[in-house]
Amino acid sequence: MLSAAAIIAKKRDLGELTKGEIYFMLDGFVRGEIPDYQMSAWAMAVLCRGMTDDEVAHLTDGMLDSGERLRPTSDRPRVDKHSTGGLGDKVSLILAPLVAYFDVDIPMLSGRGLGITGGTLDKLESFPGYNCQLTTAQIDRQLSELGCVITGTTAELAPADRKLYGLRDVTGTVPSIPLITASIMSKKLAASLDALVLDVKFGSGAFMRDLDSARRLAHSLTSTGQRLGVATSAVLSDMNQPLGRMVGNACEVNEALQVLQGEGPADVRALTLRLAAQLLVSVGRFDSLQGAMVSLGAALDAGKAYELFEAMVCRQGGMFSSQLTTAPAYELCADNSGWLEQLDGQVLGQTIIDLGGGRRELGDQLDHQVGVEMLVRVGDQISRGQPLLRIFARSAAAADQARNSLLPTFRLSPQPVPAKTLIVEP
Ligand code: URA
Repeated sequence: MLSAAAIIAKKRDLGELTKGEIYFMLDGFVRGEIPDYQMSAWAMAVLCRGMTDDEVAHLTDGMLDSGERLRPTSDRPRVDKHSTGGLGDKVSLILAPLVAYFDVDIPMLSGRGLGITGGTLDKLESFPGYNCQLTTAQIDRQLSELGCVITGTTAELAPADRKLYGLRDVTGTVPSIPLITASIMSKKLAASLDALVLDVKFGSGAFMRDLDSARRLAHSLTSTGQRLGVATSAVLSDMNQPLGRMVGNACEVNEALQVLQGEGPADVRALTLRLAAQLLVSVGRFDSLQGAMVSLGAALDAGKAYELFEAMVCRQGGMFSSQLTTAPAYELCADNSGWLEQLDGQVLGQTIIDLGGGRRELGDQLDHQVGVEMLVRVGDQISRGQPLLRIFARSAAAADQARNSLLPTFRLSPQPVPAKTLIVEP
């Protein structure tokens, strides 16, 4: 006879849990038979003692089995991308319509902002009326018509994750690689995917601050996906400075619209093409990453993905505009000369929240029009008085406050500093 107390003690004493024991904990918790205090103790034991790859796969499978799954509605391959979150990451907005143009279905189930990093759904809601709460039937219909959907996960998908995440959030048990893996993968795999690509970010503007933790998370995510039969690959990308120039909801949408027309910052385009190419190679649309990237780039330049993006926004009730309005702009100028060596992503992310572009508490209303435009990159030579940032704020006072927090975080070196490499591995 299984007991929650014995399973918690087994994990505490470094034991490897069986599939039956992991399912017993999850099922009991979802049904309300295992109380929050026992589930919290178990999550803490997992955080402290870790899990083997087998245990993580069972945990992911158990979370998947706690709910329904989206079922394929066509014989096209189904793919998705997940990013662990970073400042200025607007890749999903470009990648979803881009890969759909290559005749694959992309049922992208996305989230809202978490901590300092923005959420894809919040960005899309910069188009007034955009509906992020599609039902399973609506997702299926839109996929068969357009091939791409970006919406929130439904209440029926992986309910065990939703309940456990709520508990982890208030018990200090979020930063556990096994728990993060099962949480991310159960939500993604509930869409019955053939291939998944993961953008695992590291640096001051990311969830994982150092490369080594990002490597461990990438290994855990890819090995779990592969064990569960999904072609899963990952890239490790640097988040010590924002991706692209724009950070903030409408600002990022405007930048994504530029990239969708073959313009925009080179780093956003390069990362999007690379992640999209990995997906298309995984499902056999192309033989090589290089070949896939050339064709994907040509599709962007020809505006094919832009057309699909506009169709997706309109199909989901959004009032499409090729240039969203942003708040008034104020500049922040360098008070010294040198080479830009470092900036602090955490402070930048917090500044966006303070301007009203992110949430302090669940349920906070966002101001989609505020944000920041980076006018310089790490490695650039800076002269005193040169504009470093444009701050999109509601008032001069709010911009002043943002300036005061941001300026001290721009570290200048008297010697030249190398530019950063975006995709670090593989
Ligand atoms: N994102 C998730 O979906 N789950 C986690 O546990 C952490 C980040």
